[in-house]
Amino acid sequence: MRLSRYFLPVLKETPADAAIVSHRYMLRAGMMKQAQAGIYSWLPLGFKVLRKLENIVHEEQVRAGHIPMLMPTLQSADLWRESGRYEDYGEEMLRITDRHGRDMLYGPTNEELITDIFRSHVSSYKDLPLTLYHIQWKFRDERRPRFGVMRGREFLMKDGYNFDLDKDAALHAYNRHLVSYLRTYERMGLQAIPMRADGGPIGGDYTHEFLVLADTGESEVFYDSAVTDLTFGDRQIDYDDVAQCQGVLEEFTTRYARTDETHDEALFNEVPEDRRRVARGIEVGQIFYFGTKYSEALGAKVQGPDGKPTAVHMGSHGIGVSRLVGAIIEASHDDKGIIWSEGVTPFHCGIVNLKQGDAAADAACESLYSELTNAGLEPLYDDRDERAGGKFATMDLIGLPWRITVGPRGLKNGVVELTSRRTGESEEMTPDAAVKKVVAIYTGK
Ligand code: ATP
Ligand code: MG
Repeated sequence: MRLSRYFLPVLKETPADAAIVSHRYMLRAGMMKQAQAGIYSWLPLGFKVLRKLENIVHEEQVRAGHIPMLMPTLQSADLWRESGRYEDYGEEMLRITDRHGRDMLYGPTNEELITDIFRSHVSSYKDLPLTLYHIQWKFRDERRPRFGVMRGREFLMKDGYNFDLDKDAALHAYNRHLVSYLRTYERMGLQAIPMRADGGPIGGDYTHEFLVLADTGESEVFYDSAVTDLTFGDRQIDYDDVAQCQGVLEEFTTRYARTDETHDEALFNEVPEDRRRVARGIEVGQIFYFGTKYSEALGAKVQGPDGKPTAVHMGSHGIGVSRLVGAIIEASHDDKGIIWSEGVTPFHCGIVNLKQGDAAADAACESLYSELTNAGLEPLYDDRDERAGGKFATMDLIGLPWRITVGPRGLKNGVVELTSRRTGESEEMTPDAAVKKVVAIYTGK
C-alpha cells in the first residue's frame, strides 16, 4: 500500500477523553472512530489488525477440531424466554421490537441459539462430540462503556459451544479450548494467564478466565509469579489426546492464579512470599463447562448408547477479539506509539522515502516495494511529500515492526537502513539484503 493512496487519518493531538494508552493510540493512529458511546467504526488500519486476529482465532479453532459457522446478531426473545434468561439478563440486553410487534434482541451471547440449532438437527450420540463456533458482533448495553474497544457496547467475540455425551467428554472439550487459547494468544505475541474465575450466572465449577497483565486492566488478580514463566511454545499437540490436553491444563492451572472473585487469601499465603503477586489484568477470554443447564432447559437431548434420551453436556468458550486489539497495545507500546508483533501487524514493513522526488530514492523505494510485495508481504510505503520527521513519527505511531529508510545519501554508498521498531536499532545494508532479511523474518525462508 502506498500511503498517498491509503486512508490513514492520523491525529496530531491527543484526544482528551481517552483515558488509557490503547484508546489514545487507536484514535491517533487512525484505527477507529467512535460512532456512539461504546460503538466504533473500524477504519482501514484498525480493521486490518482486527481481521488478522480473527484469522489467528479461526486457524487455532479449526486446528483444535472446532467447526466455524455464523449465527445472526438479532435473536428471537422467545428462545431466551425458554431458557429463562430473557428476564434475568437485565438492562445489558438491547431489546428491539419489529414491525409485527415481535420481541427480538441483539445477542449478547449465543447459548440459546446454538442449542436450538443443535436440538433441531442432532438426535444421536453418534453425532457427538461436536464443537461449533462463530466470530460475530455482540451487543451488551454496558453501564459504563469506556477505554475504547476494551469495554465497548458492540464488540466482536469468538464464541464456541461444545456438545458432548457426558461430563468427561465435555471436560476434554474444555481442555481443548484451554490449549487452543494458549496457542492463540501466544501467536498474537501476548501472555494471557488462565486464572480460576467465577461462573457468575452461567454457574459451574469449571471456568477459567485468560488475563493479560496490564496496569490499566479492570480485574484485580492474584498469582504465583511462577505462572509467568510458562510458555506454550511450538510443542505439537494432538487435540484428540485426552491425557496430553489434560497435562497442559494441569501445567498451566495448578499454580495459584485467581481473579478477585475467587481469590482465597489463605491459599494465596501458601505461595512463597517472594513469588506472591497482586496486579491488574485484562480479561481476553473465558471458558466454561456448565453441564446440562441449557440442554435441559431447551430440551437438547440425544439418544444415548443405551437407547435412552439423555441431555447433552455443554460448555461455552469466548475470546474478546475486538478487546484484544486494545489489550495488545496496552501490553506493547512506548511513548512514540504502538509496537506490533510480527504476527498481528497491519503491514509487514514500512518504507520511508527521505527525499520524495529524488530519482534514485524514488526508484530504490519502488523496487523495495515490488520485491517485498512479490515475496507475499504487504509493505506500507510512505511516498508522501513530507518532512522526514513527520514520516518517522507516523511510522512510530502506527507501530510496524520493521522500517526500511531510503535516502539519497545512503544510496550513494549502496545502502538503506533497516530499523526494528521494538529495539530502535538500525542496521545499514544493501536494499537486497534488507528485503532478504525482512522476508526471512516473516516466512522463515
Ligand atoms: P467482563 O467481565 O469484562 O464484562 P464478561 O466476563 O462479561 O466480560 P464473557 O461473557 O466472558 O465476558 O465474554 C467473553 C469475552 O468477550 C471476554 O473475555 C472479553 O474478552 C470479551 N468482552 C466481554 N465484554 C466485552 C465488552 N463490553 N467489550 C469488549 N469485549 C468484551
Ligand atoms: Mg468473562
